[in-house]
Amino acid sequence: TRSIVWFRRDLRLRDHPALSEACSEGEVLPVFVVDPAFDGAGAPRRALLHDCLAALDDATGGALVVRHGDPADEIPALADEIDASTVYVSKDYGPYGRKRDEQIADALRGADRRLRGIGSPYAVDPGTVRKDDGDPYSVFTPFSKKWRACGWSDPIDAPRRPNWIEAPSDGLPERPDVDVDIPSAGEDNVLARWRRFRDDGLDDYDERRDLPAVDGTSRLSPFLKYGVVHPRQLLAESDARSKAQATFQSELAWRDFYADVLFHSPDSAWEHWNDKFDAIRYDHNQAAKNKFERWCEGRTGFPIVDAGMRQLVESGWMHNRVRMITASFLVKDLHLPWTWGARFFLQHLLDGDLASNNHGWQWAAGSGTDAAPYFRVFNPTSQQERWDPDGEYVHRWIPELDSDDYPDPMVDHKAERQEALDRYEAVKGSS
Ligand code: FAD
Repeated sequence: TRSIVWFRRDLRLRDHPALSEACSEGEVLPVFVVDPAFDGAGAPRRALLHDCLAALDDATGGALVVRHGDPADEIPALADEIDASTVYVSKDYGPYGRKRDEQIADALRGADRRLRGIGSPYAVDPGTVRKDDGDPYSVFTPFSKKWRACGWSDPIDAPRRPNWIEAPSDGLPERPDVDVDIPSAGEDNVLARWRRFRDDGLDDYDERRDLPAVDGTSRLSPFLKYGVVHPRQLLAESDARSKAQATFQSELAWRDFYADVLFHSPDSAWEHWNDKFDAIRYDHNQAAKNKFERWCEGRTGFPIVDAGMRQLVESGWMHNRVRMITASFLVKDLHLPWTWGARFFLQHLLDGDLASNNHGWQWAAGSGTDAAPYFRVFNPTSQQERWDPDGEYVHRWIPELDSDDYPDPMVDHKAERQEALDRYEAVKGSS
């Protein structure tokens, strides 16, 4: 039999159940479709995608077929072209991917072919972890207990000698010119990165992961995003009996949790997950836009916020602790809609991911699952004193910090905190 493996967020050959199944059945055409919808991702992420695809193409010995266009047209056409009986995919649980896949499954069915989904980018597929009564979880801790109890299969090897089908390729997408350093793609590089971190950093993870000046986290998020490594591999190669390693595993559970939340509430990508928050007032006027610009440029006069924003724009990544601080600042000190910040993050982050990013933002805004209680407003000054006590991180990203060129704080945190609490009254009052 002939089949297609349509790669999406699973740009690897190892531990790829859909690929292994397809290869066990016969000849396989490995395909990636460059969807015009990807243009929404910022240039850094498109450069990373390019590099991941180039590495995947190398790993297949140049067999990867790339087509540019709407997958709803390209995939059924390719299936006709090579007379494939099945198109294999790792399932996509995001709102866009689900609709697209349903449409393509219908088109294939019309031609007596089928779309077959095996696995997903998650350790446990979204929709699987449920309360005893079948409802989805909206609180992380009980979710993560059940998630662990679900368990996950062991990683599998890459197919031995895949029998690739040849077909004309439009070639890789253009690699945008970017100033940020793109980390080395390719499965071997990424596995080596993981194992270095596992051997040298994982046992200190719980002590170091909150310090932005320190390289204390795995930096695997961009590669988890594109599926160059599957979380299963990281779970299999870490050990929950160590407290630090269990903490790391629970961060992977957060990733699965947010995908689960998005699966059950697709609208929560851009709308309040907790719709009581629809009553809150955000600023949208010209003054708000000017404030937003200062936040984006890292010129708020709050060093930890500015260092984070500059790290984001200059490197395509921001430390998790600082993501929380900058997000809180945008919503609670500047009173701007969280969606503005979420969109900016998605344009710049190499790991930009709708589920983790937008629910991370809703967490900071108080409108999401597990939300930080709205009245707990991060104080950017005390956060900096606590997590960057020697100022190493802020000085690294703000060279002019100690000079007159660095702006004064753009707002009075105490007053804005009160303003945020006053606005929150409308939420408390709504039914
Ligand atoms: P590590 O600490 O090494 O963690 C290992 C992996 O666990 C990460 O690679 C990631 O896949 C997962 N993980 C860790 N923390 C979280 C978390 N809080 N939520 C979900 N998954 C987590 N993560 C993204 O992958 N993409 C995003 O677009 C994104 N946007 C965020 C926006 C905000 C406002 C906040 C507060 C968090 C966001 N996160 C996002 C989560 C987290 O900041 C990053 O996953 C983490 O900083 C990535 O670095 P790392 O790989 O070194 O993480």
